[in-house]
Amino acid sequence: MLTVGIFFVTLTHMTTQQPNFHPDVLVIGAGFAGLRAIVSMREIGHSVTALETGDGVGGVWYWNRYPGARCDVESYDYSYRFSEELEQEWRWSERYATQPEILSYVNHVADRFNLRDDIVFNQTMTDAKWNDATHRWEVTTADGSQFSGRYLIMATGSLSAAKDVVLPGQDEFEGKIYWSSRWPHEGVDLSGKRVGIIGTGSSGMQMVPVIAPQVQHLTVFQRTPNYSIPAPNAPVSDEEDAAVKATYRARREAAKNSPSGLNFPASGVSALEVSDEEREAEFERAWARFGFGFVLCFRDLITDEKANKYASDFIRRKIGEQIEDDEVRKHIVPADFPFGTKRPSVDANYYPTFNRDNVTLADLRDEPIERVTKTGIATSAAHYDLDVLVFATGFDALTGSFLKPNIVGRNGQSLREHWDAGPLTYLGLLSSGFPNMFIIAGPGSPSLLSNVMISIEEGIDWLTEMIMFSEAAGNSSLEATSEAEAGWVQHVNEKADETLYPKVASYYNGDNVPGKPRVFMPYSGGVRGYRRILERVSGNGYEGIIFEK
Ligand code: NAP
Repeated sequence: MLTVGIFFVTLTHMTTQQPNFHPDVLVIGAGFAGLRAIVSMREIGHSVTALETGDGVGGVWYWNRYPGARCDVESYDYSYRFSEELEQEWRWSERYATQPEILSYVNHVADRFNLRDDIVFNQTMTDAKWNDATHRWEVTTADGSQFSGRYLIMATGSLSAAKDVVLPGQDEFEGKIYWSSRWPHEGVDLSGKRVGIIGTGSSGMQMVPVIAPQVQHLTVFQRTPNYSIPAPNAPVSDEEDAAVKATYRARREAAKNSPSGLNFPASGVSALEVSDEEREAEFERAWARFGFGFVLCFRDLITDEKANKYASDFIRRKIGEQIEDDEVRKHIVPADFPFGTKRPSVDANYYPTFNRDNVTLADLRDEPIERVTKTGIATSAAHYDLDVLVFATGFDALTGSFLKPNIVGRNGQSLREHWDAGPLTYLGLLSSGFPNMFIIAGPGSPSLLSNVMISIEEGIDWLTEMIMFSEAAGNSSLEATSEAEAGWVQHVNEKADETLYPKVASYYNGDNVPGKPRVFMPYSGGVRGYRRILERVSGNGYEGIIFEK
């Protein structure tokens, strides 16, 4: 047996214990989902080992340390609900927490519940194989270490596998290249530099206003202008903190019963059934306070093109008003897809940043990148001199992290083969042919269409109960049937077809990764509807799941 104990004594925040190489449960990833899985598995008396690529906990919040990174779900909702003590003792300083604050929260959780004792850092799972004789998963990591577990919990994240973007000539660039999703931990001094950033999704939009004042010049390479709502961020006063904590259960219940798990009640009103004045007033209210929750201010913004057009036009107008230059405005106001169908951003001063003298917008639709040169980027129209190039080009969303390792289930079939034409899951939590393997917040779950914390915790709670149910009956493995899986995939598609989502190119559909099958991946029926389905399935003795002794 290989030992990796050396790591555990040399790095900070590490356990000094020898890892358990053959626990009951192997968890892959020590982000929010992985930590929650450790807590739950311990609670039912199972030994657990989590394997984590990084040398600390936090997952995406460990890696995405770019300037300006913060959450666009409110802190009190983007946090664990499994411990009331934790809820009461943690003090968020802002309504929308910064990445460093979230990272210190996750570290606090890891310390408070001694979770590091069960985490092996600097370990990347490369292979996992189901052994049908022993009913165990056999896992190999990048350094050749071997682990095994009765259960394999894939807590590897939906937005953690960065998309590979390699531009012609990139190797020749003599300046520095950074990725938002792998920002150096020591930070980067951008002062006095000519910086180019590619990508105007949430990451790019958060970074641009923060780095623009630091750099000599910033060029923003934009391909598709997206919609963004201002973040109504503010410091949290002691009074507000006390008020939330006094009624935290009610807040959690409300979020759980809203469509997307945000702390905003979904409107039951159609944007089509109110007067122009009423609609405008509601849009203004949502613009001022809802952030990402703007999508919920009428019930049909994501399901009805006409209703959506009202919202899209309103937001376009609001974006346009923030930009002084007519030419820049023409390029930056989104035009050719409905609001919300591609993940909108929540920004702090993004658009006014283009009013600065040291910021240039390069519209790649008009002037595509031809190549990276030694000294910058050549588009079809100009050469942009750069010292630093930043990629904020996004992720192989929802499936990337699950397909990176080679996972082989029953009969030698790999997950890559099984998902060749798009991800196949039952309830977004299991995949047929992969016994005792669980997927957290993956395709087929509300995941990226929800406050992902709710999807993580409710998914893990449900799986934990199912494990207890299975073991109480003396079973050693459980697996979704292919019929149940096919039925779920069909249901996910039917729900998506009730919306505008499938009509638009987005990472929800796999469109952002060349060659990826085009399938709408997350479950769009809302967290409440999803939970009711989970309850029905467990209430019916876990229909769609086969248990084996
Ligand atoms: P993203 O939303 O996928 O945006 C990637 C950007 O890069 C897009 O503007 C895309 O343009 C552009 N791009 C990709 N490949 C390109 C290429 N080859 N050439 C030129 N441009 C290219 O990725 P992200 O900004 O990292 O955000 C991903 C998700 O992470 C968010 O939607 C959100 O769910 C989460 N996130 C959340 C927060 C938060 O909580 N505040 C912050 C950051 C990220 P196209 O649109 O044309 O493809």
